[in-house]
Amino acid sequence: MTETMAAVAFNDAVSRYEPVFGLETHVELGTITKMFCGCPAAFGAEPNAAVCPVCLGLPGSLPVVNRRAVEYTIRIGLALNCTIATWCRFARKNYFYPDMPKDYQISQYDEPLCTDGYLDVAVAGTVVRVGIERVHMEEDTGKSHHMGGATGRIHGADYSLVDYNRAGIPLVEVVTKPVPGTGALAPEVARAYVTELRELLRALGVSDVRMEEGSLRCDVNLSLSPAGSGQWGKRTETKNVNSLRSVERAMRSEIERQAAILDAGGTVVQETRHFHEETGQTTPGRSKEEAQDYRYFPEPDLVPLAPEAAWVDGIRASLPELPAARRARLQAEWGLSDLDMAAVRNAGALDLVAATVAAGASPANARKWWLGELSRHANESGTELTHLPVTPDQVARVAELVSSGQLNDKLARAVLDGVLAGEGSPDEVVAARGLAVVSDEGALGVAVDEAIAANPDLAAKVRDGKVNVAAALVGVVMRATRGQADAAKVRELILAKLS
Ligand code: ZN
Ligand code: MN
Repeated sequence: MTETMAAVAFNDAVSRYEPVFGLETHVELGTITKMFCGCPAAFGAEPNAAVCPVCLGLPGSLPVVNRRAVEYTIRIGLALNCTIATWCRFARKNYFYPDMPKDYQISQYDEPLCTDGYLDVAVAGTVVRVGIERVHMEEDTGKSHHMGGATGRIHGADYSLVDYNRAGIPLVEVVTKPVPGTGALAPEVARAYVTELRELLRALGVSDVRMEEGSLRCDVNLSLSPAGSGQWGKRTETKNVNSLRSVERAMRSEIERQAAILDAGGTVVQETRHFHEETGQTTPGRSKEEAQDYRYFPEPDLVPLAPEAAWVDGIRASLPELPAARRARLQAEWGLSDLDMAAVRNAGALDLVAATVAAGASPANARKWWLGELSRHANESGTELTHLPVTPDQVARVAELVSSGQLNDKLARAVLDGVLAGEGSPDEVVAARGLAVVSDEGALGVAVDEAIAANPDLAAKVRDGKVNVAAALVGVVMRATRGQADAAKVRELILAKLS
């Protein structure tokens, strides 16, 4: 099939074909040292500074398993409702790649540490249970840098440099079972699964899960079959998709592309593909190897792994409250609808709202400031809500100043502006900018007298009993005091003076 064939529109494609997808997610564990040696596993060191004979695959070096990496993997397996093996082994996966110095990767094959679990994800008001096939351990490869070309890709490059710092960093691969039956929602379910998995891994404290730095990367497997045929089609595997949005987009474009091939009576080629952010399309990589091509065999340099039951039980007992349970608890405590809770989560504000409530604000106020004014600021400055230079404690203090009548909403927004501009704490901004609500009767009395004198016709109407007209005079005073007057007090004064 040609690659230029026009794609079928998404809705048309999913009305006639049933997508079945599976996701393989690689997670870099946040251990201090690498999987099989004592080299630091940190990101961002000088190239080839964090290496030793083991992770460079030099002759005579021998790997030793990182106990903490095993513990983290068991933690992930338990949180994903998996069975933890009482005995398992590492395996060699043999293939050549310039950034993999041993020419094999130590991974797990037919004896993974964790098997047969699930993760529930909520999409469009329904819960989809995504089956987990396996969670296994392996080591990361190094990284090739292709130099001299325009795109940073190997095509068009003059030469390549290899950095082995990443070689041997512990990886966990979480593999789902095939997920059928989600129809048009398939791309959203896939995105929701990765979102939930990322929150879970963050809560477990096993990885920094930064997709943009590659510490969480997804391979998206997808096939289509004619709706109702009961047979699964040939699948493609789109490699290393590195944002949540791209997971969804890659799957959509792959559904549209495969539908066009099937419509034309063609056969989908089983292959790996690459997703391009700029075009939203996938292009072919290599034709897909089968497992037997890797000549897996048990790793002879490592003893089998047999985690003791007591150790596993201890890890189970130490699991934190998991994200789905925490969200349900907070939603109940805050009295939010599903829709409002989804808005908090989608804005990336869950932890911020929780911390603001913990600092004393009401849930309604915490939500209002983070999803309103502060989200607007974040959008305008193109940053994440969590990166704004304002703390939950400060937001709680602003809410408190409003509740106690010392600020109104307009002044509170000005105080937050000041905090975000680096002018100090809310109280410092109030003092420096002179932003407190003016409720002092003496000061307000002067402003009210001026407003009455300048608007005799309005004043006459209020005197005649048209109390509603007082609002117009209140407006005059508010403008004159640049919004700082206590509006309720101003109204009281106007009515008293004109009665
Ligand atoms: Zn090393
Ligand atoms: Mn892998």
